[in-house]
Amino acid sequence: MPAVPLSHNDPITKISKIGAKRAELYKKLGVVTVGDLLELFPRSYIDYTTPTAIKDAVPDEMNVLLVTVTRKLMPARIRKGMTVYKLVVTDGESDMTVVIYNSQYMFDRMSVGEDYRLYGKITFSGRKAEMSSPLILKGDSDELIQPVYPLTEGLSQAMLRLSVREALERMSDISDTLPQDIKQQNGLCASRYAYENIHFPKDNHALEIARERLIFEELFMLTLGMQLIKRRSRKQNGYALKYASLRPYLDSLPFELTSAQLRSINECISDMKSGCPMNRLLQGDVGSGKTAVAAACAYVLSQNGLQTALMAPTEILANQHYKTLCGFLNPLGVSVCLLTGSLPQKDKESIRNEIESGRFMVAVGTHALFQDSVSFRKLGLVITDEQHRFGVNQRARLAGKGSNPHRLIMSATPIPRTLALMVFGDLDISLIDELPKGRMTIKTYGISGKRRESMFGFVRKELDSGRQAYIVCPAIENSESDLRAVKKYAEQVSESYLKGYKVGLLHGKMSAAEKDGIMSRFESGEIQALCATTVVEVGVDVPNATVMVIENAERFGLSQLHQLRGRVGRGKWQSYCVLVSDSMSDECRHRMEIMAKESSGFRISEEDLRLRGPGEFFGSRQHGLPKMKLADMATDIAVLQKAQLSAERLVKSDPTLSKPEHRFLLQGVMELFDKGNDL
Ligand code: ADP
Ligand code: MG
Repeated sequence: MPAVPLSHNDPITKISKIGAKRAELYKKLGVVTVGDLLELFPRSYIDYTTPTAIKDAVPDEMNVLLVTVTRKLMPARIRKGMTVYKLVVTDGESDMTVVIYNSQYMFDRMSVGEDYRLYGKITFSGRKAEMSSPLILKGDSDELIQPVYPLTEGLSQAMLRLSVREALERMSDISDTLPQDIKQQNGLCASRYAYENIHFPKDNHALEIARERLIFEELFMLTLGMQLIKRRSRKQNGYALKYASLRPYLDSLPFELTSAQLRSINECISDMKSGCPMNRLLQGDVGSGKTAVAAACAYVLSQNGLQTALMAPTEILANQHYKTLCGFLNPLGVSVCLLTGSLPQKDKESIRNEIESGRFMVAVGTHALFQDSVSFRKLGLVITDEQHRFGVNQRARLAGKGSNPHRLIMSATPIPRTLALMVFGDLDISLIDELPKGRMTIKTYGISGKRRESMFGFVRKELDSGRQAYIVCPAIENSESDLRAVKKYAEQVSESYLKGYKVGLLHGKMSAAEKDGIMSRFESGEIQALCATTVVEVGVDVPNATVMVIENAERFGLSQLHQLRGRVGRGKWQSYCVLVSDSMSDECRHRMEIMAKESSGFRISEEDLRLRGPGEFFGSRQHGLPKMKLADMATDIAVLQKAQLSAERLVKSDPTLSKPEHRFLLQGVMELFDKGNDL
């Protein structure tokens, strides 16, 4: 067959033996073009390079052997349609029987006196070794590392290998996306070499080189995309603040701001004076006082006749922010309103009108704030709280409201710096790395479930002295037997340990109105102990609460435990966090020790990263970054840093990627970020 050259965008039906039907199967794997096929990376490899001796092989596990066939036995037909073929092989030291079911083809391919590499599960009965249905490679084969692809029913490894091989051979030109100088600076191989060796590695070293290049490329595209977004927003015009006198605000606050809070406020103000839209992440541990920074910004905006919108992820939080902002801003003559989905239609209507008229300078709310029917008179600043759950794309979309409002994103998730750069690479970062003075550290204990009774004795003592408590359970209803379900728990506790006390129940399946009702009864002190799921994780502020009990503590990540713990220790009393777990495994014990010892969210998140890897963070796709094919944030952080550096340099020299040698880069970045919608 004359080998017509293939190109990246050709449909895979141009490859031999792929017709319309098989193309449908490939589509299930996300493969439509020849280029897609090349990017269908093996999910693992079978490595025949280092055979073991039969006597050293691990029983019942996969082993690679290098053997010579010494004898072929007579095929035995054990029943209709089932023939067993056996061969005796040796590795020069011991013998082994190879059993092949029903494949005369395989049997015929093996000859006495010839060498083969086998890959299969070995079993020993007495001294007799046996391997059933191994994968077989000719002894002189030089393809000792074989790719294993993700499959779908109807496709086999053999078919995929053939097709990928053909694609590689017929592609005359595998375009090299990375510019020469970037490859050189980072010691990366050429694109063709990378694709050839990621699919059919010459040896393990070549595979490493190929992987490094492809992972670099992925992360490079990602960070390049982030930088382009960042640059684009810099190019736009934003409201340049003319007035920024903080004094009245500082004077009316009931406390003195920490220097980290002041620094953050000044960073925001200087951004907002610059004439470009601010695009800033405000990172600070729970309780570090981000809201006071947000309020300062809103205050300064109002001096300039500009409105501020503050968006929270839940109604509970929106309510809370509303109250806090009223407290900070109303005395200064700045009017604040609350707009959430659960308000009666009539109220929403009138609030919307007054936002539009400009009577309300600050609007607090949930997503409802960003429905099309809400229009602001002059929206200058959008603040979003706990925003890591919104992706890059959404961040870009949000900016579309108003005419390039400034944006401030508040996050209490203390992401280690490298990861923050990754997820928020399109933002500038302010860090509140200091807690308000006089905060007492929260005393933290890890206990086994056996001590629940005495723990509740302690809880009762706190309630008796007028304080309040949270009790967090991982589940709402009984799903897994060993998980505490909050509904039942609340019931049981109010009839036993906390009989006579006012116990409340809060979980995510309740309506917004119900949740708000419970929260305000807890805030007013009417409810003494609140049994809740992790809906209380984010931002809730009840200073009178001094005890946080967390059941099934082993089920939560360290960072999440830290967030939960941050719900207490907000008032003037010593606060406590009790982690309860029935499974006191070593790992669990270790985690509890970390919690007891560490009070800094950043150090805890670094521990978390070390213990569990960033899978938690990156696996959930909460970050909203494009999906990676090869790169793994857990192991590729060093490559990520190199890629970030190179991307920064490149954007400096060619900010719009308009040079001809950067054509493929631009294309690649656009594809990665959803066809360039957001670039
Ligand atoms: P977070 O950063 O977790 O959102 P908040 O803004 O809710 O923290 O602040 C936590 C508590 O600390 C609030 O009750 C707030 O009024 C108080 N607070 C904020 N800044 C200071 C400060 N500089 N000194 C004392 N208390 C402060
Ligand atoms: Mg907060």
